[in-house]
Amino acid sequence: MPDDLKVGTATAKRGELQKGVIKGIELNTTTSIDIPVLVMNGEKDGPTALMVSTQHGIEIQGIEVILKIMREKVNPKNLRGAIIGIPVENPLAFMHHQYLSWIDNQDLGGGGSASPLTADKPNGTATERLAYILWQEAWSKADMVLNIHTNVRPDSLFFTEINVGNPKTKEKLEKMAEVFGVTNVVESVPIADDAPDTLANLAVKNGVPDILIELIDGRWISEPSITVGVRGTLNIMKAFDMIDGDIEPQEGVIIIPGICTFHGIVHANRGGLIRFLKTPGDFMKKGEVFAEIYDLYGDVLERVECPVDGYIWAYPCGDILGTPGSLQAVQTGANIAYVFTSDKQ
Ligand SMILES: [Zn+2]
Repeated sequence: MPDDLKVGTATAKRGELQKGVIKGIELNTTTSIDIPVLVMNGEKDGPTALMVSTQHGIEIQGIEVILKIMREKVNPKNLRGAIIGIPVENPLAFMHHQYLSWIDNQDLGGGGSASPLTADKPNGTATERLAYILWQEAWSKADMVLNIHTNVRPDSLFFTEINVGNPKTKEKLEKMAEVFGVTNVVESVPIADDAPDTLANLAVKNGVPDILIELIDGRWISEPSITVGVRGTLNIMKAFDMIDGDIEPQEGVIIIPGICTFHGIVHANRGGLIRFLKTPGDFMKKGEVFAEIYDLYGDVLERVECPVDGYIWAYPCGDILGTPGSLQAVQTGANIAYVFTSDKQ
């Protein structure tokens, strides 16, 4: 950890919190779209934790978690290591209230695409350039990454997601998920050396553990997301000896025990309004009906069944222009539910 930690225009000396921007891209008005960053350099040596939120522009709870951690909870005088906080990773999505960049409809993190957006193209599209500069300025300086996302209403379940397929990061990721303390979804397909250089894949290739944290009620700053997010983050910092204190178990939220595995997305076969008969976190048998799609006369068109013995973590319905959670209504083929299983069920 250097004496002067520099990220974008912010330079923090030991014991300091500083703010600045990572220079982004320019619109056709010559307006700059930059990425605000907070840099906290601890008094003593230790790991550098990068906290990022709002890779997806409607998922704003992590912004508040980062601000609470860096402005209220952690004092640089007592910190061993450093924290880099990026409240809004993708300003092109956030400024337009959209999930993806409004300008090229791309996902900064490379999600949801067969040819994902990578962070290795300084001369690429607007969003590719943001990913590149984020890697250069922030991700490449981190020893661990807390990537905070949120599901959206109606209702959802807190979880973390880790990929334990890579020996260099497995142990640290398991420790981070355990102390964060919510339902943990585990993936184990290794990231190959020739996998596309997305931000997350680059982290793995460099031996940097990158935990995905999914809070709930993403369009709002609300409880219990803030408390759960702050408590889990502080637990990770305690577990890696960045701050003093005991690990605090999560309280007041549903936690599914065991090793959980993502099963898939259930899609609508009819169009209409949708009502939910189960709450995320409820255990369901295969074939159990968890939602009904009904038309504007009130007649039920489809009774939607759970495809496996398992659980739902959220209902990402109401998708429009790639942005979920805008309306409690679906069209044929729309996303309805994320389904997962647990080895302990
Ligand atoms: Zn997200």
